[in-house]
Amino acid sequence: MRTPIMAGNWKMNCDNEQARELAAAIAQNAGDMQDCGVILCPPATALTMVQAAIEGTNIGLAAQNMFWEEKGAYTGELSGPMLRSCGCKYVIIGHSERRGRFGSVADDFTAELQKIFGDSDASVNRKIKAALSYGLTPIVCGGELLAERRAGQTDSVVKGQVQAAIAGLSAEQISPIICAYEPVWAIGTGEVCDAGEANRVIGLIRETLAEAVGSAIAEQIRILYGGSVKPDNVRGLMEAPEIDGGLVGGASLKADAFCELIAVAAQVGE
Ligand code: PEP
Repeated sequence: MRTPIMAGNWKMNCDNEQARELAAAIAQNAGDMQDCGVILCPPATALTMVQAAIEGTNIGLAAQNMFWEEKGAYTGELSGPMLRSCGCKYVIIGHSERRGRFGSVADDFTAELQKIFGDSDASVNRKIKAALSYGLTPIVCGGELLAERRAGQTDSVVKGQVQAAIAGLSAEQISPIICAYEPVWAIGTGEVCDAGEANRVIGLIRETLAEAVGSAIAEQIRILYGGSVKPDNVRGLMEAPEIDGGLVGGASLKADAFCELIAVAAQVGE
C-alpha cells in the first residue's frame, strides 16, 4: 500500500505575505494529515517563510528546481545545501516548464522559453544525483507534448525520460524518488488526462522503473499524476490503482481547493 501524496506547485506565484497566508491556511486544515503526504512547493523566495508556517506539522517543503553544484559562481542558481538550509526535504526536478516544454503557451514563445529554461534529460539526471547526494528527495517529472501524443509517441517519450532520469543510479538511490507523470498538454490548460489513460502511462513508468530496480522496489515508488487536477476531477484520478497522488499547480493556490484534493486522496487511499 502506497500512501498518496498531494504536492502543490505554486510556480512563480505568491509574494512572501501571500505565501505565509496560503501555507498557514493549508497547515490549519491539513497539517496533521496522516493518510496523505502533503508537500508545498513555493517559489524560492518564500521557502523560509513557508517553512516557518508549516513548522511542527506533517507538511513537507519542496523547491521547484535546483542546480547540481554545491556552491560557486553560478549567478541566480540555488544549490542542494541552500535548499536544505531553508527546510526543504524535496525538490521538483525536470518539470516540463523547466524543460521549456509548455502546453498553454504560443509556439513561438515556447521555442524561446526552451532556450531560456532548457532542462534536458542529461541535466535532469545530474540534478537528481545531486539532490540525492544532499539528502533531498527528488520529485521527477516527465510527460509528452500534444504533438507527441498525436504522433503516437507518448510511451516512447515517457519511457525515454524515465530511463534517462535514473541512468547510473543504484536501486537504493532510486527507491525514495517520487515520480510525476505530467502530460504537457494537460498542464495549466484545464484539460485533464482521462484517468484510465493516466493510469496506463503511470503503469508504464512503473514497469520502466521495475526494469531498473526490480518490481518489489518499483511497487513502493510513488508516482503522481499532474495536469489540471481540480476538486471536480480528483476522485476518478485518485481511484485509479497506479496513481499515487497529484502534482497540482493552479488548484494548489487556493487553500480550500487544495485541502479538498488532499482529503479526497486520503479517503481514496485508505
Ligand atoms: C503543475 O504545475 O505541475 C501542474 C500540473 O499545473 P496545473 O495543475 O495548473 O495543470
